[in-house]
Amino acid sequence: MATITLPEAPVQESKKTTTKYVYFFGGGKADGNGKMKDDLGGKGAGLAEMTNAGLPVPPGFTIQTEACREYMRNGGVSKEVDRQMEEALSKLEALQGQKLGTGENPLLVSVRSGAKFSMPGMMDTILNLGLNDKSVEALVKRSNNPRFAADSYRRLIQMFGNVVLEIPKHAFDEVFDAKKKKKKAKLDTDLDAKALNEVIEEYKKVVKKHARQDFPQDPHEQLVMARDAVFRSWQNDRAKHYRRINNIDDMLGTAVNVQAMVYGNLGDTSGTGVGFTRNPATGAKEFYGEFLMNAQGEDVVSGVRTPVHISELHKIMPHVYDQLRDITTRLEKHYKDMQDFEFTIQDGKLYMLQTRNGKRTGLAAVQVAIDMVSEGLISKDEAIFRLDPNQVVDFFVSRLDDKDVRPEDVLTTKGIAASPGAVAGQIVFTADDAVEKAGHGAEKNPVILVRAETTPEDIHGMEVAIGILTSQGGATSHAAVVTRGMGKTCVAGAGEIVVDERARQMRARGQVFKEGDWITLDGTAGSVLRGKRKLLPPDPENLAKLDKFMSWAEPFRKIEVRANADIPRDAKKAREFGAEGIGLCRTEHMFFAPDRIPHMRAMILADNEKDRRKALKKLLPYQRKDFEGLFKAMEGLPVTIRLLDPPLHEFLPKREKLMVDIATLPRATAKRKKVLIAEYKDYGVKRASDLKEVLRSLLARVEELHEFNPMLGLRGCRLGITYPEITEMQVRAIIEAAVAVEKEGIKTHAEVMIPLIATVKEMENQGAIVKRVAEDVFKEKGKRVDYHVGTMIELPRACLVADEIAKEAQFFSFGTNDLTQTAFGFSRDDVNKILTAYLQEGILKQDPFAAIDQVGVGELVKIGIERGRRTRPDLEIGICGEHGGEPESVKFCHQVGMDYVSCSPFRVLTARLAAAQAGASDTLKVEGGRTK
Ligand code: PEP
Ligand code: MG
Repeated sequence: MATITLPEAPVQESKKTTTKYVYFFGGGKADGNGKMKDDLGGKGAGLAEMTNAGLPVPPGFTIQTEACREYMRNGGVSKEVDRQMEEALSKLEALQGQKLGTGENPLLVSVRSGAKFSMPGMMDTILNLGLNDKSVEALVKRSNNPRFAADSYRRLIQMFGNVVLEIPKHAFDEVFDAKKKKKKAKLDTDLDAKALNEVIEEYKKVVKKHARQDFPQDPHEQLVMARDAVFRSWQNDRAKHYRRINNIDDMLGTAVNVQAMVYGNLGDTSGTGVGFTRNPATGAKEFYGEFLMNAQGEDVVSGVRTPVHISELHKIMPHVYDQLRDITTRLEKHYKDMQDFEFTIQDGKLYMLQTRNGKRTGLAAVQVAIDMVSEGLISKDEAIFRLDPNQVVDFFVSRLDDKDVRPEDVLTTKGIAASPGAVAGQIVFTADDAVEKAGHGAEKNPVILVRAETTPEDIHGMEVAIGILTSQGGATSHAAVVTRGMGKTCVAGAGEIVVDERARQMRARGQVFKEGDWITLDGTAGSVLRGKRKLLPPDPENLAKLDKFMSWAEPFRKIEVRANADIPRDAKKAREFGAEGIGLCRTEHMFFAPDRIPHMRAMILADNEKDRRKALKKLLPYQRKDFEGLFKAMEGLPVTIRLLDPPLHEFLPKREKLMVDIATLPRATAKRKKVLIAEYKDYGVKRASDLKEVLRSLLARVEELHEFNPMLGLRGCRLGITYPEITEMQVRAIIEAAVAVEKEGIKTHAEVMIPLIATVKEMENQGAIVKRVAEDVFKEKGKRVDYHVGTMIELPRACLVADEIAKEAQFFSFGTNDLTQTAFGFSRDDVNKILTAYLQEGILKQDPFAAIDQVGVGELVKIGIERGRRTRPDLEIGICGEHGGEPESVKFCHQVGMDYVSCSPFRVLTARLAAAQAGASDTLKVEGGRTK
């Protein structure tokens, strides 16, 4: 059952009796308009706009989102909502010359959700509302089609039962399937009116049994119950999950659209379909979509029947096709964006049911934006907002290497190319299995979710899978729409593949595939292949288009984008993506390489300064060489090098493992001892007889270093203060490298960064070492280079005393990973245990380690910037936590006046676009392409 916010106070009459809750549309005029998405939702605003434009839209009314928020707050809506709804219903009845669910020509309505942002399939819809035992008879007479009337009624009981009365779907499916079996019917459409009337009687019994009430016969009661159920569906688990992953505010609420029914299932001159004004996968300018004759809307999108390409409509009903093209072209011109539309044909007459800006892949977004600029539909300034920075990755997806494809590998080429890219992965058949088999973190496995069709309930599995394959449904099926939004490869409606989810197997070309078998999907071509096929890097033609698009956006960017890179190879990659420096080099990563770790361990195990210095001396040449590589790759751009940060025990074996190895040593076999000798050779073990002594002294040192909270322990600048020789070695390596590179005629710009500073005294202490060692090196080498000394700001105290710290620091770099950890008091390594419940309960809206918590952590950042610049107006300020590559956080960094963001090399383009859009929003006084 969907969780609903419990009423905090008894349901009260709304005091604001003037609030307009209900907006009518019909007869060529609407109360609302297309700009009112906040109140009317995307669908309601679109219906109003289309009505005002004189398009054929079935009339109705929209109950605005405030009523939903009221429902969430109070557990019910005010009487004023009921009153305005009844008033709008009377108006609708008068316009149609019908009465809801009564009389010879009963009015029937659809009740649909529609939030500000489209959430495909996440909330609920009820069709044919108003039907009851009496009105169904009237419908029989009026349509002269008893089968159609019975089918509409059974659909209503089923939808109402499931959505409003929360009866499980399978309770109805069992009845329906049994009837089909009994009547030897292959398709739903094979059941005649008599059989459907029997189904209706049995459905009523299902309702009585599960809901302990009769199916309501009063149409007004049906309407109120359906409206409230749609409001409740805003709070269902899949809607909440969808909002979380798409960053949609939980408090927005949904509108409810009540609209006169039109029927696509009245016979062979009726039909229904969905489409796009351009191809949503590639952006090509082509009429794209599909339809089914003699069907209702949900048949097209649910994938129950595989629909026909929209071009076929031209053959069946040429004038309807022409009218549809004309209307949708007008809509695209009107909205200046690609439209996603729904239509129904009733007895040869076309009705538009919805239009909205269509969801599309990153590739399509850029193609459409470029085309619309050349068509003169939008300006370049408008175009730059048309690509979501998170979709930049779509340009870097792999392609299938055709050379690695033998004809016998191809299972089908007839799937729908629903979302581009090629992936190879292991099959799973349920969303839960996808989550289980995909695993987490470093142990992540590539899984491909294979379903007959996906439903909104599969969303968690779709999120972890690398690709989705469905055997039914079309280019606008749930799988296709959702994967495009996620930037995930999808082949939909691959009809030659038979999926048996229960038996967890799939059949294709006479072969059976089981869970765990490898397949390859090509979502750009719509093909499925067996095995793990070779993949190629992205298409250069698309990258050229992205370049063009970026060249329009970039001039607006005000802040720099640097990369977090520790080794020259990553630094080079980062520059290819346009990084303007290194914002964070985590030097500890350099110590893990096999040739360095023994010296690092020797340094840690040393119990006196002399031995420590000896080991550090061995590390020095490695560090110097790494830094030279970074300086060379960056050719004079800033290279921010952070001194050693993590607790030292991270470089040593785990305490528990040592204890076990010591305890089991007396019984160890020769084979086991061999393994142990290899494992501990870096610590001086040469033969079995060394093991006892070395393991014991190792454990003693590990015990000494053991801390209950290592993240709050001997790490960051505290290491350099406790063991100054570490700072000395690292600074020497940095400065010697810079001098050497400059001697080769290449410019350098070193920024030495002290981590985890909380007090100005710490900064003074470490800053003094940096300056002393640098001067020593300059003297020794007879050459000076420019360098800066600064700090990471990653503790709340550092933000508060930033004015003090800035006296000693030439730059600040906000380490928002640690700052989030210390501001919330969440362990960044264990937070997942807490996060699931926090997100589910709505305590947190987003993972604060992914997107910066602007109100809390962001406030600390603002304080840090303001106080730091009070002391040093030219203080250089950036961010190097993970947030530096997350678009909303980048926007925040722009707004608070940072000089740069730094992120992983693969996020550099995303950050560049996000920063450019933020700059353009300011310059052009627009928000997301619309006037502020
Ligand atoms: C940070 O804390 O934000 C940071 C960049 O440092 P690290 O992740 O290495 O602790
Ligand atoms: Mg940190």
